[in-house]
Amino acid sequence: MSKLLVIGEARDGELRNVTFEAVAAAKKIDTDAEVVGVLCGGDDLNGPAQEVIYYGADRVVTVKHNLLEAYTSEGYSQAVLAVIDDEAPDGVIMGHTAIGKDLTPKLAAKLETGLISDATDIEHDGDKAVFIRPIYSGKAFEKKVISSGLTFATIRPNNIPALDRDDSRTGEVTAKDVDVKDIHTVIKDVIRKASEGVDLSEANVIIAGGRGVKSADGFKPLYELADVLGGAVGASRGACDAEYCDYSLQIGQTGKVVTPDLYIAVGISGAIQHLAGMSNSKVIVAINKDPEANIFNVADYGIVGDIFEVIPKLTEEFKQV
Ligand code: FAD
Repeated sequence: MSKLLVIGEARDGELRNVTFEAVAAAKKIDTDAEVVGVLCGGDDLNGPAQEVIYYGADRVVTVKHNLLEAYTSEGYSQAVLAVIDDEAPDGVIMGHTAIGKDLTPKLAAKLETGLISDATDIEHDGDKAVFIRPIYSGKAFEKKVISSGLTFATIRPNNIPALDRDDSRTGEVTAKDVDVKDIHTVIKDVIRKASEGVDLSEANVIIAGGRGVKSADGFKPLYELADVLGGAVGASRGACDAEYCDYSLQIGQTGKVVTPDLYIAVGISGAIQHLAGMSNSKVIVAINKDPEANIFNVADYGIVGDIFEVIPKLTEEFKQV
């Protein structure tokens, strides 16, 4: 039986959904694996640890230290390395998030081992787990297998569904003391630029605005539609460059990569760099007044029309549902 560590991630005391997806990924790699959650933070971690167990982990190791209150790669790598040292796992999995992208290469390099990043699915070839990962901005997929030794893997949020929550599950929660020290980075404050609400990279529904939205005020109807659908608002770089919204909303090659169930592209032409961030969404709806716009080539449903007429109508219709 293999042992797989899942490094959890919390935001404002709440575990991010990708933590549960990483547990499901571990089970997909090896259904018989012992899955051990790892949670680091500055507060009591027992509640979140129980959640990780409810979603399929067998047990959880927590590392609480005041220097782990906010994420720093120095602090978290000390904590996680200490747990890896104790547990000697066969693999370490975490979300392909800003933190996952920062932490896992550092740990893999330190331990002189491999990293498979940004996996969107896991299949099997005999008894070997095969990691599927998009390459060339999502135009092709590559399959990777682990030949030997400890390997790190990150999974793209919103692709591998979490297991059903089962609050009858039980598992041991162990607190590990780690002498976190020599942190050169001090996080004094966290200033959120993105709007509060649903996190863009984990949203099931995204309403993304482009230059066709025409102004910061033009984004307001998109927020109203997002509220009705329980979704998040994103943007093209065109809209960000025009200062209609913050760059934290940018989706694409140089922005966030998203795979929601529903992506509504509003006044976005569909440049290749934008498609790189959203073309793997499950259902794509494009609204554009130009019937020749490239976005229609990747859309499942297209509405040729003026967004300022179409969006309020959609919002009214969805309110009736
Ligand atoms: P436009 O191309 O100007 O399209 C606006 C669309 O709105 C048009 O199709 C128009 O028909 C439609 N429209 C206008 N008014 C209305 C209306 N009233 N009703 C309906 N439709 C309307 N772009 C990204 O998005 N993400 C990235 O990560 C990214 N990375 C890049 C990296 C590099 C190295 C480079 C060179 C470019 C990158 N870009 C990126 C920029 C990209 O090439 C495009 O310039 C950008 O995506 C265009 O944004 P847009 O579709 O909003 O604007």
